[in-house]
Amino acid sequence: MIASQDGLCAICMAAPAIHVDHCHETGRVRGVLCFNCHSAIGTLGDDPDRIRRAISYLEGTRGSHHS
Ligand SMILES: [Zn+2]
Repeated sequence: MIASQDGLCAICMAAPAIHVDHCHETGRVRGVLCFNCHSAIGTLGDDPDRIRRAISYLEGTRGSHHS
């Protein structure tokens, strides 16, 4: 798992992956993340829907600058 990510965090792909992230429901290993990204998804409740809204928010904010 760590080798397939080249030793880097699966989200930012910049920082060293130090935190093995498990699915809270199944206990399956989801990937290896850096400290910042692991705490970021934890802050968003490990909730894909919430994180998708965060993405829409960021992209919408960026898109609104052309007016
Ligand atoms: Zn990261």
